[in-house]
Amino acid sequence: MMETCYLGVGANLGNRRKNILLAIEKLNRIKNTKVLKASKLIETEAVGGPKGQPKYLNGALKIRTALTPSVLLKALKKIEKEIGRTPSVRWGPRLIDLDILLYGDKLIRTKYLEVPHPYMFKRDFVLEPLRQII
Ligand code: ADP
Ligand code: MG
Repeated sequence: MMETCYLGVGANLGNRRKNILLAIEKLNRIKNTKVLKASKLIETEAVGGPKGQPKYLNGALKIRTALTPSVLLKALKKIEKEIGRTPSVRWGPRLIDLDILLYGDKLIRTKYLEVPHPYMFKRDFVLEPLRQII
């Protein structure tokens, strides 16, 4: 079954826009997954994590996918890795971050996956792009 999902995308290292566009291309190459809408990218101050991080570009995507939530999460992590993200401290700087904001109307609370994303309602850098496309 195909579900409509919303993803948060962010980057604050390297060529941020290029990293995000590459992530969109890679999402479109996943079987039974299509990016339907992309918000404008906004520049935002880093929240949390180490002090003095570079600014982020943040955006939101609307996708349709046949992947289950856990398989989608794995696919996002694979794309992050392919783009060159390496493990770092929590909320540390990154080449790319892909988060599941909403997955259909599902409520998921496991150790590995929380949907709706637990911080999305407090973060303007998530909500503003999301409003453009939802
Ligand atoms: P963050 O996005 O919080 O800065 P990471 O991208 O490193 O940090 O993700 C840390 C972990 O958060 C992931 O390994 C994943 O298991 C978990 N996680 C929980 N809920 C979600 C979600 N909705 N989207 C993406 N990752 C999630
Ligand atoms: Mg993340």
